[in-house]
Amino acid sequence: MLLISSGASALNIGVPASSAVATRAPMSCVRMADDKAEVEEYFNNEGFNRWSRIYSEDGEVNSVQLDIRTGHAVTVDKVLGWVDADGSAKAGEIFCDAGCGVGSLSLPLADRGAKVVASDISAAMVEEAAKRAADAGLSERASFSTSDLENIQVPADGKFDTVTCIDVMIHYPQEKMAEMVSGLASKADKRLIISFAPDTWYYRALKSFGELFPGPSKTTRAYLHTEEAVVAALKDSGFKLSRTEMTGTNFYFSRLLEAVRE
Ligand code: SAH
Repeated sequence: MLLISSGASALNIGVPASSAVATRAPMSCVRMADDKAEVEEYFNNEGFNRWSRIYSEDGEVNSVQLDIRTGHAVTVDKVLGWVDADGSAKAGEIFCDAGCGVGSLSLPLADRGAKVVASDISAAMVEEAAKRAADAGLSERASFSTSDLENIQVPADGKFDTVTCIDVMIHYPQEKMAEMVSGLASKADKRLIISFAPDTWYYRALKSFGELFPGPSKTTRAYLHTEEAVVAALKDSGFKLSRTEMTGTNFYFSRLLEAVRE
């Protein structure tokens, strides 16, 4: 029961029923604006408290949150494994970390030598990430600003070498996913690294079971995406898959894709 009732929070999180969305705002553009405002509000308040704790090495978490912390750390390590394999961070390449949260990926990238331009829709997340960077002595290589994905400024001299966007797509409805991917792709000179909660029958069941148990932890909607649709969006944006990974624990599911310009 625990697994089922908490399943939705694993899908990172938070959830409520898409029908609630449809009744409130039928037009997808209105709906997206609505989603975004809610996500921003969530990650500046309750979501900030919850996720900044989960995305820490210590700090009190319950067993579900610990499972999610562990799963997310595995995803971050997989990204770093790829980046270490090609030495791009060490070489000082420019990374854009879109939807950076508290900087779980931005910081280790900067620590390796990358120049990291990080941003998040939540000012609270950005403030925490900047603080963590300063504490780690990384402020020179990592900058943080409040911005949604659609308004990220590219460097004056061109594009970012790599754009990373980890565990953010869950906040984008299916009909907005392709636009999100193409927006990120247009800012990436060489490579995109993105992750999403996969829409497979198993996770779909878990998510809908979770929705039967609305609880205090479910405060934003979660959207699953099919790999087929994400790969098609990458292809339409001129990118082809180069490496993939999947991380699944009891409560955390994240499919990770690396795509390079064709
Ligand atoms: N990428 C980070 C954080 C993941 S949590 C990591 O892996 O550690 C998801 C983050 O996405 C939150 O910080 C949230 O504020 C941010 N986010 C959600 N929708 C966004 C949007 N439209 N634009 C920018 N950031 C967004």
